[in-house]
Amino acid sequence: RLVLGVESSCDETAAAVVEDGRRALSSVVASQVRDHAPFGGVVPELASRRHLEAVAPVIRAALAGAGVTLGQISGLAVTQGPGLIGSLLVGLSAAKALAWARDLPIVGVSHLEGHIAALRLMDDPPAPPFAALLVSGGHTSIYHVHDFGQMEELGQTVDDAAGEAYDKVAKLYGLGYPGGVIIDRLAAGGDPTAIQLPRPRLRDGTLDFSFSGLKSAVVRFRQEHIGQNYRIEDLCAGFQEAVVEVLTSKTIAAAKQRGLTRLALAGGVAANQRLRQAMAQAAAAAGMELTAPPVALCTDNAAMIAAAGAIRLRAGLRLALEADAVSRLPRGGRLPGEA
Ligand code: ATP
Ligand code: MG
Ligand code: FE
Repeated sequence: RLVLGVESSCDETAAAVVEDGRRALSSVVASQVRDHAPFGGVVPELASRRHLEAVAPVIRAALAGAGVTLGQISGLAVTQGPGLIGSLLVGLSAAKALAWARDLPIVGVSHLEGHIAALRLMDDPPAPPFAALLVSGGHTSIYHVHDFGQMEELGQTVDDAAGEAYDKVAKLYGLGYPGGVIIDRLAAGGDPTAIQLPRPRLRDGTLDFSFSGLKSAVVRFRQEHIGQNYRIEDLCAGFQEAVVEVLTSKTIAAAKQRGLTRLALAGGVAANQRLRQAMAQAAAAAGMELTAPPVALCTDNAAMIAAAGAIRLRAGLRLALEADAVSRLPRGGRLPGEA
């Protein structure tokens, strides 16, 4: 019951072998961060080229790392979307080729379902049902996870994703790329009350988010304080506090609305130290239990794709070999070419 997962939706080429959908035997991630850093963001054309170079060696490394051969693999799972279309196509084509050559069953996986499925790979995974906050570079959503593989979206961002806001603020101040982890570190040395920034939609009564206004507030703050002395650590802490307060408050509200007592974090921004801390405090105060995955399971990887794929394989779903990658998920989240 070994599933080989392949992920190439953005700027990480990843492959992993997962046993029974629960145990990662290997997880190899080839990051392109250094290739894109000079540009302050992912350059799609460059990403596709790097994926092409990396995909075969990364798959071989995942098999070797698990100590298995392709002959022992029982199925394939590959990210079909959402993401950069040129990047997705590389992983999708590679996985289809392997499936066809070895006559193996293959399923397409939603990258977002993958981020949630990462929780299943923990030693002590949260028991469904639970409320999950998915915060990443391209998405910010709250889900009611009825079961792994069955999630209902309760709210989402109406503009920028939380991770995008981190990256844009870091870029504005020339702090480096990717910005999330840098701001996280700088903020730890700052005073979160020194610089007050807005908390968009904090009390609007919905479970939706908006982060573009917060980013604009930082742009304005910077312009209005040119030549004045303030600590970048304080700015980072102030910005981060605004993001974290909104994320935390809405996630708790969602759980209360649905009568859920368990919470989970997922996605790259779930690696944020302050978010993990604030969420743990808020959960404890509300009598809820929080699961936060280790950082390696928060950021992009293929073990999470294999974990999500294992459920789909077991359910008998199959990806048609002519099925396309999708840059955005269609409404309802159903992937094309599924049978
Ligand atoms: P998506 O999953 O929405 O398609 P993605 O795959 O590019 O987007 P992830 O890899 O899940 O996103 O997450 C990357 C994002 O996480 C980036 O925006 C990055 O800045 C942010 N991030 C990573 N570590 C941290 C951290 N410690 N604090 C805040 N943000 C972080
Ligand atoms: Mg990435
Ligand atoms: Fe991601």
